[in-house]
Amino acid sequence: MKLHMQVLIALGLGLKRNWHIFLGLLLGVGVGIWLHGHSSPILMNVLHFIGQVFIRLIQMVVIPLVISAIVIGITSVSDSNQIGKLGKKMVIYYAIITVAAVCIGLFLASIFKPGLGAAAYINSDVATGIQAQVATTIEAQKGNMLNMFLGFIPKNPLAAVSGGDMLPIIVFMVFFSVALAKVGEINRPFVSFFESVFAATMKITDWIMCFAAPGVFALTAVAVSAFGVDVFASISKYLGVLAIGFGIQLFVVYPIFLKIFSKVPVLMLYAAIAEAMMVAFGTASSSATLPLTIACCEKRGISHKITSFVIPLGATLNMDGTALLQVVAVLFLTQAYGVALTPLMIVEIAVLAIIASSTSAGIPGAGLITIALVLNGLGLSPEQLVAGFAFLFTIERITDMMRTLVNVTSDAVVAAAIADNENEINYDLLNNPENYNDVID
Ligand code: ASP
Repeated sequence: MKLHMQVLIALGLGLKRNWHIFLGLLLGVGVGIWLHGHSSPILMNVLHFIGQVFIRLIQMVVIPLVISAIVIGITSVSDSNQIGKLGKKMVIYYAIITVAAVCIGLFLASIFKPGLGAAAYINSDVATGIQAQVATTIEAQKGNMLNMFLGFIPKNPLAAVSGGDMLPIIVFMVFFSVALAKVGEINRPFVSFFESVFAATMKITDWIMCFAAPGVFALTAVAVSAFGVDVFASISKYLGVLAIGFGIQLFVVYPIFLKIFSKVPVLMLYAAIAEAMMVAFGTASSSATLPLTIACCEKRGISHKITSFVIPLGATLNMDGTALLQVVAVLFLTQAYGVALTPLMIVEIAVLAIIASSTSAGIPGAGLITIALVLNGLGLSPEQLVAGFAFLFTIERITDMMRTLVNVTSDAVVAAAIADNENEINYDLLNNPENYNDVID
């Protein structure tokens, strides 16, 4: 075996197993770049297969995990007034973080104007292939807001479960769990049942995570291979603005937030959830990352009670990265097509982005579908709307990976802040990464 291969393998084996995910990510980027220049259908198929096996395995445990976590989380808050207090605090914290994201997006897109001159490449051939699909999506979203809200109330909770519709499932489970908490001791058999379900799904998550490194590697390689340096060059300003925005969210907003509302050291928290952040980037799905986010938080100091209450709701409702992307993308298109925005329209964009993002499912690409809610009625012609939207589709995956990382991180940030406020953090564990329990056994 060549020396450099031996060194790589030794490095991999010597590192803590959790770091293998990071190596997988880096290797995925490298292989993806190589694949872009070399046609290798067999390798692509193999990578696609490996990536899908990983995603499907984690999706397999998400619904039992969300249901059991919500039941346990809500019923473990013994005092029913406290449930309301915790719920309110959670909504306020998520709202603060999302409003900050939207303001940052608006500010950066107005200062750097990434859309100026972009009309020239928006209509490029790359976009035309998917215009029909895009037109249907926009049509489906038009004027659909009230129906969309209606859809969150499940007529049949079991149908929502079998269809995997996360928001209706959560709405039902929250009602149901609050009711369970109110009925007192009689809820014990049911809650015990879900404690077993939770424990078993976390065990399966442990096993699946052994497959995280190859899974993240394959997903990243396939995603990166779709982009050439040429595509990057033409959209570098747009991507740059997004990257700066996400960076500010991660390294300015969350630290300030944690400083104001808690005494959680942000870098320790990031160390604790590092694997979840990497898997979020690789899978571009908050829902698929959910089992790992829960495992990281619980095994490194945040109590079971707060984690199981805050994280599943956050993974579905709290999408600050998505909101940031949506305002930047909308301003990008209006700049590209020279649409003048009044201050009122800008406020409207901000408010709609907050609504649209939090109604996005935690799955790849969801935030780009709901962006149609924000885009409609801004004065773009139907052709511009379709071409612009199609353009966003062509560079979707890479921005999805970045915003999902932000979405997942903010779930943990809010959980940590609430846990601190409620004395539900074990700081001896959180502040000592050398004692962290592996999320991958
Ligand atoms: N992929 C994102 C997530 O799962 C949602 C989106 O498309 O913005 O958090």
